[in-house]
Amino acid sequence: MKTNKEWHHANRMPVNADIEQRIAWHIEHAKNCGCREIPEKLKLEMKKRNIKI
Ligand SMILES: [Zn+2]
Repeated sequence: MKTNKEWHHANRMPVNADIEQRIAWHIEHAKNCGCREIPEKLKLEMKKRNIKI
């Protein structure tokens, strides 16, 4: 999948994003764009929180 530039433009990652914000961002990102995978570290945090990817 290619980069969804419009989505990225409208959904910037906050500069000092905490883990919750990063998770939320990556969930939305995965739905809208395929330019990169969710980092393993974040996947682990999502598992701990019982968030399905
Ligand atoms: Zn992307």
